[in-house]
Amino acid sequence: MSDEPIPAEVDSEEEIPEEHPRYQDLVTRHRIEAGVEKGITHLQGMHAEGRGSAFDYLLGERTIESAREAERAAAAVLLLAERPVISVNGNVAALAPRETVELAEAVGAAIEVNLFNRTPKRMNAIADHLRAHGARDVLGLSADARIPGLNHERAKVDAEGIYAADVVVVPLEDGDRAEALSKLGKTEIVIDLNPLSRSPQAAEIPIVDNLIRALPNVTDHARELRGSSETELQAIVDAFDAEAALADAEQVIRSGLR
Ligand code: ATP
Repeated sequence: MSDEPIPAEVDSEEEIPEEHPRYQDLVTRHRIEAGVEKGITHLQGMHAEGRGSAFDYLLGERTIESAREAERAAAAVLLLAERPVISVNGNVAALAPRETVELAEAVGAAIEVNLFNRTPKRMNAIADHLRAHGARDVLGLSADARIPGLNHERAKVDAEGIYAADVVVVPLEDGDRAEALSKLGKTEIVIDLNPLSRSPQAAEIPIVDNLIRALPNVTDHARELRGSSETELQAIVDAFDAEAALADAEQVIRSGLR
């Protein structure tokens, strides 16, 4: 860790010195705090953020090579998809609203709000926040279908959104829902900094990278791959080895060889 003092409290992102060695982490922390204040992020989101931050520190707060390959494969899967959907929770909305919208536009995906702690107030606050960052259609509010195998609020999805999707991007998803979506036959792209978490292990494409780096990376790959043929895209997907990517991330984290 650096000896430089970390500002205890900042009112706006601009107050965080860009030259600070933990700049990205401070920005992330600030966005989650701001998300809680705005009512879009649940307090539990702070714990999730803390866990993520520790893993990111061990990864060197950078995109490792195996994650870059996963991001490229994710872009190919999304371009091949018929009905891709990006699932957004309170942390995703707080951390990367614009990046979520940009990825959705680059691959023609729908955006659906899907919350563990679902209340109409939070659902609407998140939908408004996404719209303020350029989202045109935000799904998830009607919640007229259920994911089998999950109970109560966690099972609620839109019939025209996640329920009908062939590919779902689930950043920072909890393990139960990731497993249930997988059983439903969805191709899952999970973004999670913990390679040992159940969610990335349930995914066809696990991306062990910080959401704030991963989303723009997938978007860049998608823009670059847009003119590729189906055969070329499929070859990228086929060459990706999810188990090897997870093992590589674990090895980087455990060895400290960053
Ligand atoms: P499981 O998937 O086994 O249920 P969990 O209980 O740790 O694991 P949650 O608390 O529901 O999962 O989700 C938090 C997960 O999100 C953690 O694995 C954490 O590492 C990850 N995470 C938090 N912030 C980020 C981020 N900015 N980018 C990517 N992953 C993150």
